[in-house]
Amino acid sequence: MPVWNLGSVNADLVFQVPHLPAPGETLAATDFKRGLGGKGANMSVAVARAGSSVHHIGAVGEDGLWMKERLSGYGVSVDHVAELAGPSGQAVIELDAEGENRIIILSGANARIDVFGLDEILSEAQPGDWAIFQNETNGLLDFARAVKARGLPLAHAAAPFDAEAVAPLLEHLDLLVMNEVEAAQLEAATGMTPAALPVADVVITLGAKGALWVGAGGEQRFEAPKVTPVDTTGAGDTFTGYLVAALEQGLDMADAITLAQKAASVMVTRLGTADVIPLRDEL
Ligand code: ADP
Repeated sequence: MPVWNLGSVNADLVFQVPHLPAPGETLAATDFKRGLGGKGANMSVAVARAGSSVHHIGAVGEDGLWMKERLSGYGVSVDHVAELAGPSGQAVIELDAEGENRIIILSGANARIDVFGLDEILSEAQPGDWAIFQNETNGLLDFARAVKARGLPLAHAAAPFDAEAVAPLLEHLDLLVMNEVEAAQLEAATGMTPAALPVADVVITLGAKGALWVGAGGEQRFEAPKVTPVDTTGAGDTFTGYLVAALEQGLDMADAITLAQKAASVMVTRLGTADVIPLRDEL
């Protein structure tokens, strides 16, 4: 059964620099890499690597055809990734020798997804399919309503966190995934503890400390596998993609969290984003 993912697609443009440039300074980069990123694309790749089929719903700009091709090469269906005039989503990342960074993000095409097509796209969905989305595109509430009108289970990663964006979604969600910081921000904004939220299952990732599941049966803690982290970028996206794929494949929540943590803990030992999300066979 497929997973339907409304999500961002970003070009990660990583410039290695000797130091972060001062205002007005012109600086020669020592290296450059262009990678596929965006929380949405990362999650689609994670779902595919976990062994589920996934339809990505999103948009790239006129400079983004390579990203659509790369997603497709990773086994993600890109039939519903539109090609729009104007720029793709991108992240310009300056990374210095100490690992310090500075990042500029442009939403680009991710903010111009045609939400009026969502009902038609989701008319292809079947009972048993899952839907996921994050907070890097427009159309979140339209997507939530369209998914629930089809009766599909819906998971949301509340990242990047925005209280105003997530609040109206809560009543539509079956599963909410957040990191510790986002969970604290949501509690501060709504006054509700995770257990009080109108969402059946809430999973809070705790970095090296693992994950916490808050569901109807109460709270359950899961330890993370011990690894030496190299780059934690994309850990949360890998976790969420694997988690939803595992649930879609029929695993129970505890087994799904355990699998998601295995994948995320391997991910933090690798440099990069979507391109290096581990395959299930590697776990
Ligand atoms: P985010 O990347 O969204 O901030 P976290 O940092 O909470 O999310 O990480 C998500 C998951 O990745 C964790 O629940 C854990 O399974 C795994 N993970 C992250 N950092 C580490 C680490 N240092 N060691 C082992 N696993 C980790």
